[in-house]
Amino acid sequence: MADADAFEAPNFSDEQGMVRETVHGFARSELMPLAPEIDEKKRIPRQIYTRLGELQLLGVPVPEAYGGMGLNGLCAATVVEELAAACASTALSVAAHVGLVVAPVLRFGSEAQKKRWLPDLCSGKALGAFALTEPNSGSDAVAAQTKCVKKGDRWILNGSKIFITNAHVAQVFLVCASTEPGAGPKKICAFLVEKGTKGFTIGQGDEKLGMRGSDWGELLFQDAEVPSENLLGQANAGWDVFMETLTGGRIGIGALGVGLAQGAFEAAVMYAQERRQFGKPIGTFQAVASMIADMSVGIETGRLMVYRAAQLRDAGRPHKRQAAIAKLYTSEMCNRVCTDAVQVLGGYGYTKEFPVERYFRDAKLLEIGEGTSQVQRLVIAREVLGRLE
Ligand SMILES: Cc1cc2nc3c(=O)[nH]c(=O)nc-3n(C[C@H](O)[C@H](O)[C@H](O)COP(=O)(O)OP(=O)(O)OC[C@H]3O[C@@H](n4cnc5c(N)ncnc54)[C@H](O)[C@@H]3O)c2cc1C
Repeated sequence: MADADAFEAPNFSDEQGMVRETVHGFARSELMPLAPEIDEKKRIPRQIYTRLGELQLLGVPVPEAYGGMGLNGLCAATVVEELAAACASTALSVAAHVGLVVAPVLRFGSEAQKKRWLPDLCSGKALGAFALTEPNSGSDAVAAQTKCVKKGDRWILNGSKIFITNAHVAQVFLVCASTEPGAGPKKICAFLVEKGTKGFTIGQGDEKLGMRGSDWGELLFQDAEVPSENLLGQANAGWDVFMETLTGGRIGIGALGVGLAQGAFEAAVMYAQERRQFGKPIGTFQAVASMIADMSVGIETGRLMVYRAAQLRDAGRPHKRQAAIAKLYTSEMCNRVCTDAVQVLGGYGYTKEFPVERYFRDAKLLEIGEGTSQVQRLVIAREVLGRLE
């Protein structure tokens, strides 16, 4: 592949480089061949999570004391990037598990919560799901209607969630509820709800355009009883848990966009080298070569943005704007790259015989999940302008 240096990350330690090589090898040799079937059957085989656990790729940023690798967020982002180049559905489910559940348990959890959850989450024995969106509150997440009421040593939850990645395969759900729905961010609580909790049921999700292998579903809480020790952070202080988690999650989605685009790009490059029309490889036509060049520029730019945001986060420096920029740019870049990849393959690109059709469908999610592109622009503008009201 002409783009071999794409995998060089700035300031990678030997250990981080080894993780990248491990995930690259697994993604290309074990995951990629399964990707069409994962999409077709709408299911990631359980053994994929077992293998990811064995390779320690589900707990990259978690200290070894809790069963992780003890590496940084940049390294975790490159795991998602490599998985996405092979199978975006798997990358999405892993990004939700690691970025939206493992990471907040590590950051906000008590010692008891970390000891209880992290080893199983890192080994892949348990998977996580993040439950913020509701039928009537998506971008306006603070309007969540799921209500929580303290009753003795339990919290009673009532409400519902929609579009929840990993819903049927997760054992632990990070759930947003409010002690006073409609009263704003200072009433939000974050709970770790276990599968099997009395009053908590999981329903089917709708048919999806892309990311079809990544499970999703609806959650229903009907007087669900959650033990007090499952509250993550303080009561009424959950908004920070969700916002901080989403800031980190945007770096993960950015990495997913870079990897997915890389996968589509590689397929387009190979095709442009091999497909002949008018007696020549189509890559010799400037119009096709220009698409390939633009793809390369976009992927390289997006990769640098994602790594920069991850490095700022790892260094404990402000990174909200950079994370939103990385997410916005890479998700739009990825959609452009996938559209052009289909174009390079012409009619064959429109068929299931080649993977670019799947990459094209999978890419759209990136402009919607974890804050739409419109919301990213709001976040960036607010960081630049400050709150003007
Ligand atoms: C495949 C997939 C997986 C998902 N996984 C999860 C998950 O695991 N957990 C979870 O909690 N959620 C998940 N979601 C939900 C996702 O986060 C929401 O769909 C997303 O935040 C948008 O919310 P919404 O769909 O309600 O759209 P809406 O908020 O209703 O937005 C509709 C349109 O209005 C625009 N809009 C809204 N408000 C503004 C504004 N203020 N300014 C400008 N434009 C605006 C939006 O950009 C969009 O174009 C998932 C979604 C998908 C598709």
